Amino acid sequence: MGTAWRDDALCQQTDPELFMPEVGGSASDAKRTCMACEVRRQCLDYAVAAGEQRGVWGGLGQPELRRLIRARRAETTSA
Ligand code: SF4
Repeated sequence: MGTAWRDDALCQQTDPELFMPEVGGSASDAKRTCMACEVRRQCLDYAVAAGEQRGVWGGLGQPELRRLIRARRAETTSA
């Protein structure tokens, strides 16, 4: 999967620290930015495919992203 979509990423125009909150820190501002990002879908697909373990991707924080990665892997192995 390519990464050309990153050229249009809204997070490239904001504080990158927002997208890597400390454990227990708030990801709300990052998630709000993601909701307005035109490459949200590509970002989320990339994060799932890459198994990203840190940060906010495609509007999801780590708990939600881990659940989605597990679900997609389960779909793949049961297909
Ligand atoms: S969806 Fe969020 S993390 Fe992904 S590129 Fe857009 S702003 Fe960045």
